[in-house]
Amino acid sequence: MTDAPPTDRARILTGDTPTGKLHLGHWVGSVKRRVELQRTHDCFFILANIHAFTTRADKPEAIREDTLEIVRDLLAMGIDPEGASIFLQSEVPAIAELTFLFAMLLPYNRVMRNPTLKDEIKVKNLGETYSFGFPLYAVGQTADILAFRPVGVPVGEDQVAHLELTREVARRFNQMYCGVHDKAEDDDHVAEGGVFPIPRADVGKVGRLVGTDGENKMSKSLNNAVYISDTAKQVQKKINKIFTGRQSATEPGDPNNILMQYCEIFIPDADRVAELKDLYARGADIGDGHIKQELGAAINELLEPMRERRAKYEGDDAYVIDVLKSGTARANALTEETLAMAKEACGLGFFKRSLELD
Ligand code: ATP
Ligand code: MG
Repeated sequence: MTDAPPTDRARILTGDTPTGKLHLGHWVGSVKRRVELQRTHDCFFILANIHAFTTRADKPEAIREDTLEIVRDLLAMGIDPEGASIFLQSEVPAIAELTFLFAMLLPYNRVMRNPTLKDEIKVKNLGETYSFGFPLYAVGQTADILAFRPVGVPVGEDQVAHLELTREVARRFNQMYCGVHDKAEDDDHVAEGGVFPIPRADVGKVGRLVGTDGENKMSKSLNNAVYISDTAKQVQKKINKIFTGRQSATEPGDPNNILMQYCEIFIPDADRVAELKDLYARGADIGDGHIKQELGAAINELLEPMRERRAKYEGDDAYVIDVLKSGTARANALTEETLAMAKEACGLGFFKRSLELD
């Protein structure tokens, strides 16, 4: 693994929280796009292991294990660790330092109004008991992103609200400390002397894949996910459990229900999908069971090469840690530079420092 410094290509930052393994929602919402972007951009993929403590502080071993599993999932899905940098949030101190600075630029009520936070509090049953650190993660995420001064962030729809917060912080910082005009266009911030570009959300074609419960977003915390690492049998079993409420093969079905949505997303032959939808809507003797078989086979065809690649990294923690270490070294080289620029801008640039990984 090389510690090659980043090039001057445009940068991308995105990533995952180790609250479980990666699933089909990650593939369609973000990772598929990452695989394309790694060819043309300098890509940084964060493992937000500190943020995982916001909901799992009592499970440090599970967080550690999921961190390694997600690296395996990313490699399985086609991320190339020589070209893209997969790194550990916990070993990039500039992120924590920027979080503190950015927390001063956001009104408390603005953070709490974030619809994604509200939604998470509800669906994860956090009630009134969530920690102070839980809403802080929304601020932390602005630092995760801006530390890399990226042009874009490939994410699912749920992250758009977080990205809006990030864009606000970047504008405020540039205006407050770098002399960027209040009315400057987003694209002009850097040319006007701002430290931070105003990054764009790059939402995948399927911004929100619904889980097999047919209700919530497919999520690693909600027990409604088909995992990249599931066996073919497990995949088929989960697909078979999808509930449509349809009683028989001759009952007209809703061509936009969860089962049909999955067909549209995962069966690559568009003509076949159109045909299935037509038969389904007419109740033309096509049972849910048959459709589920066809869908399960299509998903397994997508996952099979990923499973094969993943098998190479199973049980090899040393290699996975090596991938993380070189990615983290590259992330530190860049984020230390950003932090120094930010400190200089707000009067904190007293002397230089350097960081090393052992
Ligand atoms: P958690 O339940 O812990 O929040 P998660 O399944 O939402 O886990 P994250 O690590 O929060 O996963 O998300 C990583 C990235 O994958 C984000 O860009 C997010 O928008 C995207 N993503 C996650 N789930 C889906 C989904 N069901 N559909 C589309 N994109 C998704
Ligand atoms: Mg999430």
